[in-house]
Amino acid sequence: MGSPDLAKLSLNTATVKAQWTLAQAIEGCARHGIAGIAPWRDKLAEMGLKAARRAIRAHGLAVTGLCRGGFFTASDWLSDNRRAIEEAHELGARCLVMVVGGLPEGSKDLVRARERVRECLALLAPEARAAGVPLAIEPLHPMQAPDRACVNTLEQALDLCEALGEGVGVAVDVYHVWWDPKLAEQIARAGRRRLLAFHLCDWRVPTRDTLNDRAMMGDGVIDLPRIRGWMEAAGYAGFHEVEIFSERDWWQRDPDEVLAVMKERYLRFC
Ligand code: ZN
Repeated sequence: MGSPDLAKLSLNTATVKAQWTLAQAIEGCARHGIAGIAPWRDKLAEMGLKAARRAIRAHGLAVTGLCRGGFFTASDWLSDNRRAIEEAHELGARCLVMVVGGLPEGSKDLVRARERVRECLALLAPEARAAGVPLAIEPLHPMQAPDRACVNTLEQALDLCEALGEGVGVAVDVYHVWWDPKLAEQIARAGRRRLLAFHLCDWRVPTRDTLNDRAMMGDGVIDLPRIRGWMEAAGYAGFHEVEIFSERDWWQRDPDEVLAVMKERYLRFC
């Protein structure tokens, strides 16, 4: 493992989404010496794709992922995902993060929902491959199965990858997978080719909200260096992207303070 420095640190813009526009986040990264950024598409739409691409390039930032595609439960999922692939291509994003969606409205059929995810991904994968955009399936913590993603373990995501072939991999977000007894073995199984993104935060005890109460690295119970070690042993050499949804804490703070703390915690705890 190389000595920790900031060269692989990336800001997922969700971390400052309450405070900053995408333009401000891009400038913030440049000001704080953060080399990577992962924009969310609502902020991208607000700024405009061309302006965002220009600003990101002007500051020499790597786009470590575009958040997000997926949500196959939405009626416009196909056109929306095609747009997302196009945006990821335009930005030169290292992957398009796929949050696959949960149960359709009124349904209890989780088995069918999971089959449908595979069908939708099978339809999109060739288009993404043709555009040169790797699709990163992000397994979400099972508490989010009904409403956000019915792919809930790395093993399940990798089974999908194997069925779908080239150009499809996974995003490993510690918040969603840290508890998994098979985590080490599944990271090793993924290997360099399928490990497309690594998302960092921490698990607060107690967690007060299943979506928007993530902790800053060092404020929770996740053994971050150990998981990073597993990623690197498997060949992952990409960015470490900090993604913190935090209604009660980090979204309330001065975003320049958030980035300063994030850098310091990254060096100390990751
Ligand atoms: Zn994530």
